[in-house]
Amino acid sequence: RVAASFTKRQFPLPRLSSDSAGPRTPHFDVIVIGGGHAGTEAATAAARCGSRTLLLTHRVDTIGQMSCNPSFGGIGKGHLMREVDALDGLCSRICDQSGVHYKVLNRCKGPAVWGLRAQIDRKLYKQNMQKEILSTPLLTVQEGAVEDLILTEPEPEHTGKCRVSGVVLVDGSTVYSESVILTTGTFLRGMIIIGLEMHPAGRLGDQPSIGLAQTLEKLGFVVGRLKTGTPPRIAKESINFSILNKQTPDNPSLPFSFMNETVWIKPEDQLPCYLTHTNPRVDEIVLKNLHLNSHVKETIRGPRYCPSIESKVLRFPNRQHQVWLEPEGMDSDLIYPQGLSMTLPAELQEKMITCIRGLEKAKVIQPGYGVQYDYLDPRQITPSLETHLVQRLFFAGQINGTTGYEEAAAQTGFHSCCPSWSVMPSQVAGITGMCHHGVIAGINASLRVNRKPPFVISRTEGYIGVLIDDLTTLGTSEPYRMFTSRVEFRLSLRPDNADSRLTLRGYKEAGCVSQQRYERACWMKSSLEEGISVLKSIEFSSSKWKNLIPEASISTSRSLPVRALDVLKYEEVDMDSLAKAVPELLRKYTKSRELAKRLKIEATYESVLFHQLQEIKEVQRDEALQLPKDLDYLTVRDVSLSHEVREKLHFSRPQT
Ligand code: FAD
Repeated sequence: RVAASFTKRQFPLPRLSSDSAGPRTPHFDVIVIGGGHAGTEAATAAARCGSRTLLLTHRVDTIGQMSCNPSFGGIGKGHLMREVDALDGLCSRICDQSGVHYKVLNRCKGPAVWGLRAQIDRKLYKQNMQKEILSTPLLTVQEGAVEDLILTEPEPEHTGKCRVSGVVLVDGSTVYSESVILTTGTFLRGMIIIGLEMHPAGRLGDQPSIGLAQTLEKLGFVVGRLKTGTPPRIAKESINFSILNKQTPDNPSLPFSFMNETVWIKPEDQLPCYLTHTNPRVDEIVLKNLHLNSHVKETIRGPRYCPSIESKVLRFPNRQHQVWLEPEGMDSDLIYPQGLSMTLPAELQEKMITCIRGLEKAKVIQPGYGVQYDYLDPRQITPSLETHLVQRLFFAGQINGTTGYEEAAAQTGFHSCCPSWSVMPSQVAGITGMCHHGVIAGINASLRVNRKPPFVISRTEGYIGVLIDDLTTLGTSEPYRMFTSRVEFRLSLRPDNADSRLTLRGYKEAGCVSQQRYERACWMKSSLEEGISVLKSIEFSSSKWKNLIPEASISTSRSLPVRALDVLKYEEVDMDSLAKAVPELLRKYTKSRELAKRLKIEATYESVLFHQLQEIKEVQRDEALQLPKDLDYLTVRDVSLSHEVREKLHFSRPQT
């Protein structure tokens, strides 16, 4: 057991050459490279699974840094956070301790697509994350830049050209391990851009990772290039909030974690956000200065759903675009203008911002900038996130082509035309399978060490499954972001039931879930099952059930007795009102607010869920059909497959 410990460069690792004959120390089960959102989840997940884990990252003081927006969650992303939490991951619990404005998006729609979201205090998040990381048993944290991988002969029973057995740091020292997870985010050959200036950097103030990018390319990995950007930060005191639309937080706040009933701060103490809009003057400045803005001219693809103001002006001219002014923290003097990511020269950024209502006297404290970076074609990894090329090497986070903290925390096609690949897909036609992220990579790296079967989440079980399946089967040529619309079984994969879907599996199959969380999830599951069966067994006479519902909502023709479960489907009815009618049977289900809410949701979706379950079973039957690893799709006879489909199968080599 390696005690969790850290002070800056506290224990310089002993120098060892790769051909050292002596005992190879230090030796870990799992090494995680990178202390971003994917790396922190991966390292703690591996440690929770019982692996001696080393987290190697450039700087320990940037662990938990939010590179861009001071917020977590949102539509689709909130689901991912709930699923990471169901597997005992960190980000949801840390957000419940660090938020300054909690709001559920999509409230006007059904609870299946609600998006839990919060503005987060950057400083607090970092502090809380570092506290958690540095006190995780079995996890050692070390500062250092990894330059190279140590490779050995592959295990005969597995495919793959070679096997990773450690890493080489920039000072030449080596550390050995049974598996390695790469979570290097935007750092691989990272380059930041403002106006016409370009500097090598992983993000502002951080060195890029060049040696490792070269190693991966030499090994034959298909590398692509993507870009993203961040807005300038504005001095709070220079903004005239009094003329802007104010958005207040929800009351009560809905926590991200299943383990919390409340968040750390009362709604009345939380901070507001404000809304303003761009105008034709902003468009004019963008268009007049395109020649001074190299990032926007690059053909490299950026995030479609989080574009820069320059891209919005070019793609949707003459429109007003929303700008949300979001707090960066309780005692921060900065405001984050969401929607104004830009790479204009710094002096023009302030000129543009001061054209916007409420920002007439705004002072820019830190200019916006763009970043371009290498990512790896995610079709080069399996659904457990292990690479096909190198055994025991896992990729997670933005390195796999995703964008967003949640996508990174959670993991982490065939494009016939993908201009940014440095090696074209045809050159990796022999590579089998696909790719995925933080918590999942951590679990699987640990299971691999212990020679246990991989922990894979299917599309029918979670948003994490959809994310990983999309990436590993289809790849991506632009930063991939999660949405509810990507998910086939939306009504079953809800944020409220992620624990029922994943916690029990995480406990039994991966060992990454604490006893306390497991017991809570078991209690919730059995209480729900029992509650639903009691609600089905209670029958109300027509006069009694009509008393519970306003007349406007009921059809007068309905005079037969009705199950309590059906009465609960009416919008106006909740468990409290039902329990008043049948206190002896139902009051116990109203003692937990969470249980009462979940019974209401289960009742609302009852009939749809029944049909969806049949479809899910059908898909799961297909998923259970294992395809032989050596199946030659190009020559196989007696199956009617088009040439195009054969080529796609040959390239992606699905496992099922
Ligand atoms: P990161 O958080 O980037 O962490 C990578 C870690 O790896 C760092 O700690 C780094 O020090 C370490 N590292 C790298 N190389 C090495 C090495 N060789 N040795 C040791 N350590 C190494 N997401 C959004 O959702 N919305 C946005 O608007 C948005 N805008 C962004 C703007 C910018 C400028 C940047 C940089 C990112 C933006 N993102 C945005 C993306 C978001 O920050 C990432 O998706 C998320 O942080 C990815 O997490 P990660 O863990 O994969 O990588």
